[in-house]
Amino acid sequence: MTAGFDHSYARLGRTFSSVQQLDPVSAPKLLLWNSRLAAALEWPSDPLSDPAQLSALAGNEMLQGTQPIATAYAGHQFGQYNPQLGDGRATLLGEWVTSAGDRFDIQLKGAGPTPYSRGGDGRSPVGPVIREYLLSEAMNALGVPTTRALAAISSGDPVYRNRLEPGAVLTRVASSHLRVGTVQYFAMTRDGEGLAELVDYVVQRHFPNYSGEQNAALVLLDGVCAHFANLVAHWQVLGFVHGVLNTDNALLCGETIDYGPCAFMDHFDPTASFSSIDRQGRYAWPNQPGIMHWNLAVLAECLLPLIDTDPTVAQQQAQAVVDRYPQRFHHLHQARLATKLGLDSMKETDGPLLQAFHDILAAERLDFTLAFRWLTECANDTLAHSPLPELFAAPVALTEWAQQWAARRKDNAGDTEMLNTNMQSANPVVIPRNHLVQRAIELAEKDETDWIHAWAARAQTPFTWDSDDLEWARPPSEEERVTQTFCGT
Ligand code: AMP
Ligand code: MG
Repeated sequence: MTAGFDHSYARLGRTFSSVQQLDPVSAPKLLLWNSRLAAALEWPSDPLSDPAQLSALAGNEMLQGTQPIATAYAGHQFGQYNPQLGDGRATLLGEWVTSAGDRFDIQLKGAGPTPYSRGGDGRSPVGPVIREYLLSEAMNALGVPTTRALAAISSGDPVYRNRLEPGAVLTRVASSHLRVGTVQYFAMTRDGEGLAELVDYVVQRHFPNYSGEQNAALVLLDGVCAHFANLVAHWQVLGFVHGVLNTDNALLCGETIDYGPCAFMDHFDPTASFSSIDRQGRYAWPNQPGIMHWNLAVLAECLLPLIDTDPTVAQQQAQAVVDRYPQRFHHLHQARLATKLGLDSMKETDGPLLQAFHDILAAERLDFTLAFRWLTECANDTLAHSPLPELFAAPVALTEWAQQWAARRKDNAGDTEMLNTNMQSANPVVIPRNHLVQRAIELAEKDETDWIHAWAARAQTPFTWDSDDLEWARPPSEEERVTQTFCGT
């Protein structure tokens, strides 16, 4: 079978989505093209050499085999239920199925208004498009499940936010865009019509081991529980703050989505929160594990009618799955921390050692990423051969702590060489820092892409040192420090 488009979600019918018309832009121009992802997808053409492809990915003409739709969903935003969200500025071209049978949603974000736009213009400024492209591709290179970016194309049309900004369209690729909010929409609308059909669909698409004998809703809940625990464990150890963990931004396939107000912390701040609209810190770094548990509970509640006709039984069964989450998260998080610290496992007694490390990082405002990399270079005896000393100075408190840590490492049962090597592939050198994102956005607005290309390339190998890393790996100067992020829709 050759790769091509399919439309299994569109076939579910019109309560699930609406047919979307193309809404052309004036002057499409390619900003970024992800040739690696294109190759992995067996994408047949590229907008560098094929004007029709450029035009299609800007939403100006139909790609062969596409059947554009916009999908319906709801969601809790900052804890408040919003019954009508939906793809307000995203057009799903269809599902791209590779020759191996892997299926991906191909979505144009910013391609014009849809029936779910609620008065919005359905467009996106170039800033958020560049931000999403760079961050999602960096996340992927860091090994975190995420939606991907295939192309960023400037539209030639201005969009008005607080000021006029150049517009752009992003081609987003995801295992699917089905969200907790999608399930909420069907559970809460028209007496649950379509809910069972949706759940069967999601289970078949994302949990193919499902045998048909178990309860599909419980399989979904349990699978999503495992995905969320895994995803948040990744985010926490990287110091990634998503910023807007509403239920419509929680994908059932467990990929990171919505790179609006997110940010990686530079210096360690145990209460880190960047989003300008998150005044209470609901989605602050320390709250992410708990918030995804809450999102899971929302999903569970929607699924109750499908779990059992007896509400008490349904409740008990759903609760049992939701209650698995804290343990699952803890287990995965501890395993990631152990790898980062060069330990074979985290023992109960390691709690104070880790806390002391965090306390030093917080008190000295040390760079979170580089502090872990400093441990890595120390363990591997490579500090003097790396650019790290030019980027990071370990204070006395940290070097003293490192002696306790080295003593603790002597208790490791595992092979030290292997643990040291694992540290190198768990502690990145380069992360998509806010001040770099900011610079990329400013350049993109001026249509200057050379530096952006260089950074996108550098972000592909985040765990190894490279030339020019004094630029790519360094923390921001005081003036460059970004303290607040904006949704920038
Ligand atoms: P987000 O903050 O990107 O998660 O978006 C929340 C909701 O608002 C989603 O339903 C979006 O589709 C919708 N939305 C965001 N920006 C726009 C826009 N410019 N035009 C129309 N709908 C939008
Ligand atoms: Mg969103």
